[in-house]
Amino acid sequence: ASFDEAGLDSVVLENVKRMEYTEPTPIQRNALPILLKNYDMMACAQTGSGKTAAFLVPTISKLVSKIFKGQLATVRPQTGRGPWKASPLVLIILPTRELAIQIFEEARRFTYKTPLRPGVIYGGAELRVQREYLLRGCDILIATPGRLKDMVERNIVSLARVRVAILDEADRMLDMGFEPQIRQIMMSSDLARDEGRQTLMFSATFPKDIQTLAREFLKEDFCRLR
Ligand code: AMP
Repeated sequence: ASFDEAGLDSVVLENVKRMEYTEPTPIQRNALPILLKNYDMMACAQTGSGKTAAFLVPTISKLVSKIFKGQLATVRPQTGRGPWKASPLVLIILPTRELAIQIFEEARRFTYKTPLRPGVIYGGAELRVQREYLLRGCDILIATPGRLKDMVERNIVSLARVRVAILDEADRMLDMGFEPQIRQIMMSSDLARDEGRQTLMFSATFPKDIQTLAREFLKEDFCRLR
């Protein structure tokens, strides 16, 4: 289906058009209906395939529709209240700072004129600055594994409200030795195979260790895209 026919929220569709994405790429065409139906998914996708929009567009559209219908709310800090944590609805875990910033920019464009606010955290930058920024409100958290684990442990970020967890460039994260951090984040926050949540994995290659991770993190009826 085209973006017009996919049943996207109208504000999100406007954003897609503003970016001049006239035709969906093959991965977008295939992933859109699967993700809109809330299935878990493992997709083999290279950079340049349009994989970012393939997960951002349906995910943002679904959440925006729910918010507009009053079925879901964003949380923002209230002055005069006690300790407050960022509580994102979408978690995107990826390997590098460069990728994080790139996906954040794309998320900003797709959430334009919606109530959703994206945020980005990565290692090697001052934690205090990122904390200040997150505590203004963050609904879509884009994060590298080490910094994310750190911020969860410091009670700056809560993963309790996450509806959609996305592992991007999973093979590269394993190559970089992030498996323990990813496993800990996914398991300690109940993000894997949870009925109320959706989990997606994207990887350029599909070796044994990625297959093992997919079986661990995704529900049994997950969709495979190759
Ligand atoms: P990605 O594979 O997500 O890194 O995307 C690669 C590039 O393709 C990015 O610069 C996107 O902005 C662009 N792009 C993604 N989807 C489309 C589309 N449907 N039409 C035109 N450009 C696209």
